[in-house]
Amino acid sequence: MKTTDGMSSGVSGAVPAEGRGRRARAADRGTRVLAEYRLEGDATAHGVAIGPAAMAVEGPAPDIDEAARADDPAHEQARLTEAIERSIRQVERLRDRLALLPEDSKLEIGSLLEVYRRMLGPSRLQRGIRQRIAQDGLLAEAAVRQEAEALAQAMLGGPGRPAPAGEDAAAAQRRAGEFREIGRRLVRNLGQMPFRSFNALPVGAVLVTEQLRPSDAALIDPSRIVAVVTEEGGSTDHTAIMLRALGIPAVLAVHGLMARVRDGATIVVDGSAGTVVIDPGEDTLAAARRGVADYARERQALGRLRRLPAKLSSGEKLQLQANLELPAELPLIAQSGASGIGLLRTEFLFINAQTMPDEDGQEAVYTEVIAAMAGDTTTIRVVDWGGEKQSEALTRAGLADAGDNLNPALGVRGLRLLLRHPAILETQFAAILRASAAGPVRVMLPMVTSAHEIREAREIYHRVARRLRRRGVKLGDTLPPLGIMAETPAAAIMGDALAQEAEFLAIGTNDLTMYTLAVDRASAEVASLYHPLHPAVLRLIQTVTEAALRQYRPISVCGEIAGDPRVVPLLIGLGLRSFSMTASAVPRVKRVVRALSFEDCRRLAHRVMQVSGVDEVTALIDAFAAGE
Ligand code: PEP
Ligand code: MG
Repeated sequence: MKTTDGMSSGVSGAVPAEGRGRRARAADRGTRVLAEYRLEGDATAHGVAIGPAAMAVEGPAPDIDEAARADDPAHEQARLTEAIERSIRQVERLRDRLALLPEDSKLEIGSLLEVYRRMLGPSRLQRGIRQRIAQDGLLAEAAVRQEAEALAQAMLGGPGRPAPAGEDAAAAQRRAGEFREIGRRLVRNLGQMPFRSFNALPVGAVLVTEQLRPSDAALIDPSRIVAVVTEEGGSTDHTAIMLRALGIPAVLAVHGLMARVRDGATIVVDGSAGTVVIDPGEDTLAAARRGVADYARERQALGRLRRLPAKLSSGEKLQLQANLELPAELPLIAQSGASGIGLLRTEFLFINAQTMPDEDGQEAVYTEVIAAMAGDTTTIRVVDWGGEKQSEALTRAGLADAGDNLNPALGVRGLRLLLRHPAILETQFAAILRASAAGPVRVMLPMVTSAHEIREAREIYHRVARRLRRRGVKLGDTLPPLGIMAETPAAAIMGDALAQEAEFLAIGTNDLTMYTLAVDRASAEVASLYHPLHPAVLRLIQTVTEAALRQYRPISVCGEIAGDPRVVPLLIGLGLRSFSMTASAVPRVKRVVRALSFEDCRRLAHRVMQVSGVDEVTALIDAFAAGE
């Protein structure tokens, strides 16, 4: 039998449960023959750990009769009220436990519990459940499950709509997970069923479980558990974010895990490689012990980096900023040492909303974010609706793409949509301008292809500012800079013309790659053709960077490659100094750049720009990263 690493499983009778496992006969040490079993999953939280398996198995989910009709809907409403109250008490107890957690994880978990608490309040979820009981006569359990699942599905794109992709997909998965988690909690509380306890886990154990929910993660004491391995989940969900915040090495989505592990078996977990070894042999154990020591040293070093400046060894200063998808991620930004927000995606305000977010509501959110940045700049991108991004509010308001377009990425997306419906833009500009009293802000336009679009947007921007001043809102003499995303080939090629209209530029390599290579970023079918390091993309990055620099316009990169420590040296060599990335990438990028000289980066860029294939580019940057 072939496994994913192309090796045959070594021992007959020890065929892996599925393709991601491998049993191999380890060295015979003379005393016994060890047979270790290796599984693979999602590398979720860095670090290596060794410990005995502690299995935490949840009792079966309650059976729910979806078709049954309630004899007494009022009684079902009362049962729901009771279950909600019990759930609120549980969330409050979890909140009390926060004090025991390390500072870093306290903020991350605290904001998730806040989301749960809001869902259990007078929320859309609760209204929907009550409606299902009242109108469809469902039992409370069925109403909860159906409403939570409907809201989760809506987050994930809903029927007939393309699912969100990339970072949007991860955010949508997390939101869907929140609805499901509260749904599960309510159902268990309706049936008065017990929850799993993590109190009795032995010190130094590896927690092994089929699934770990974010609220479970909040219950874990990181001083007792050395690692977490789960059969389900994935590296971008809330649980994963929490485990990273708690600093617990973790591998999630390990297929076949529960069937393989026995309670107490020794397990080696490598959260960076995404491997789990059950009953490790001596060689594996020795390598793992070295990994544990290396990881401890690395954490210390990354922690110290937070306060160190982001500059090259040759002295040039860099700006490392964070991309923000949800205000709940603010604490991660604070921990990362990022100097501000280079991309605040405002889609979250629209994605989860039934109606268009109003000026006051938006202003409150922007003010919270800007104030949290404590003097560092926040770059707010006006909503980039369209393409693979979905918004219920905009669809309901009849503002979505007409639907006659077979390829929404090429349709009424981003700035095009906003210029067709200027009211959305006016509200957003007004909210941002009002919030700018809280600290430095920049405003960014998505999906620009022509200079006239920027001029039109700027006219609206100034009109909104005049209107606000007439309303008595105090704005500075100079408005916050209005800049653009350079994420279409047209914008990159016309960089010199656009840089005359835009006060700053940010290269969106995610879309730039899609449009340059004609490869849909949301399609698994063509995922193998999606290469941000394709020389065509790199030439456009170079063109637009040089155009901006010639006109002294600030330019940054905020696509995914800005957080890849292997790629940043190349971008520096092309003249870029500012990068915005997922918060957790900031320390690793900082560590790499502090060891680089500009001359080395320039030489790397020079070599890379001579070659014509992705493989050659990759080989050059890998060799550079390896110090060759
Ligand atoms: C990009 O396209 O690179 C970008 C940062 O924008 P988004 O991923 O939100 O489309
Ligand atoms: Mg984009």
